[in-house]
Amino acid sequence: MKKKINRMLVLISSLAIFATLFLITFIYYDLFKQQMFRDLKSYALIAGEGATLQELSLLGERVAECDMRMTVVGRDGQVLLDTEANQSVMENHGNRPEIAEAFAGGEGAAVRRSQTLSRNTFYYAVRLQDGSVLRVSKDAGSIYSILSSAFPSLIWVLALLILISLGIAHFLTGKLIAPIVNLASKLDEYNDETDYEELTPFIATIRKQHQDILKNARMRQEFTANVSHELKTPLTSITGYAELIETGMASGEDVVRFAHGIRNSATRLLTLINDTIRLSELDGGEEQVDMTDLNLYQMAADCVDMLRVSAEKHQVEIALHGHECHMQGNRQMIEELLYNLCDNAIRYNNAGGRIDVEVYPDRTGCVLVVRDTGIGIPKEHQERIFERFYRVDKSRSKSTGGTGLGLAIVKHIVNKHNAKLELKSEAGEGTMIRVLFPR
Ligand code: ADP
Repeated sequence: MKKKINRMLVLISSLAIFATLFLITFIYYDLFKQQMFRDLKSYALIAGEGATLQELSLLGERVAECDMRMTVVGRDGQVLLDTEANQSVMENHGNRPEIAEAFAGGEGAAVRRSQTLSRNTFYYAVRLQDGSVLRVSKDAGSIYSILSSAFPSLIWVLALLILISLGIAHFLTGKLIAPIVNLASKLDEYNDETDYEELTPFIATIRKQHQDILKNARMRQEFTANVSHELKTPLTSITGYAELIETGMASGEDVVRFAHGIRNSATRLLTLINDTIRLSELDGGEEQVDMTDLNLYQMAADCVDMLRVSAEKHQVEIALHGHECHMQGNRQMIEELLYNLCDNAIRYNNAGGRIDVEVYPDRTGCVLVVRDTGIGIPKEHQERIFERFYRVDKSRSKSTGGTGLGLAIVKHIVNKHNAKLELKSEAGEGTMIRVLFPR
């Protein structure tokens, strides 16, 4: 960035310097031209004032010494006198612009390129009293010769100016960049003040992203620690049971009991691993999920049917209400969401309790409500139950096969579907979770 700004500044200043130098050269050349004509006019007027051809011819020598040339042209255009050439062999001059102008209006001026490109001849002609025209001319460097003679010094001036602008550019970019460099080193400080107010939204975004990255890293670290911890418990009990069988300390019925324990722990491990894999799949996926047309009511009916046996085992009643409702969604995800919510409603219920699942369309989409008459969630835990591994009562969760990841998965799925989630719960009375899917 610094290099780019430096380069731009030097480029701009070089262009500006070049343009100025050229412009000044042209302006000065124009002024010089005007001055030249004024001088020639004065000479012509002074020399021609009442002079005869003889007097003019005498004056001619002096004129030549001053690098000037004098020509007298008669009314017919014939050259009567010339201080540089033999007038008798000179062609008719009546058509020369400055002379024609002088015949017509009393005076005339012209500039013509001389034999070489580098020189111009300036002419000034005045009509004398006898009707002939006196022309005075002088050679001077053309704009090209001025430019080429000034070229070496121009290059030096340019080099010097570029050097100066390099220095200034370096200083300016340093000053310009300083607040940004400063900011980069203090990204963690909660200070939104900056020298450039245009940068405020940019800084806010960068800061937010930086904080999100830190938060994510912390969450991942905690998650890994939690997963390892959760895996350790069933593995320890599997090792324990296996050791007892291996050393022959268990016999007969005990072996069956221990094998049952091993199977339970292994099932728990599998569930845990499946949930962890599922979460990391949901986490990593920025890619678009496959959305299809889903009949939410039908899917809820299937889920309720599937969980009926489990509900009976827990001595709770489960029922579905509502109307057909179609929405766009990912089938596997919605199945998971329905399963997790209904399964929780069964597991955190009391014997004799009930679960009402309801699906109905509303103005904006489909609504799913899962209401239970279970143990409820105390107010202070309600905010946190969607966090990974957060459980109100760890032993109840574990004893019913919970991993503490179900609602975290639900929250993910809700987000992927741009849906809204509401929770209402009273400890000891029951819980209601409502999900609003957009159409
Ligand atoms: P778990 O596998 O432990 O059930 P979840 O993420 O599904 O994990 O739920 C997190 C915690 O929220 C549970 O441990 C439980 O304490 C509480 N919870 C979830 N659903 C209900 C419910 N319907 N009634 C009461 N408590 C619930």
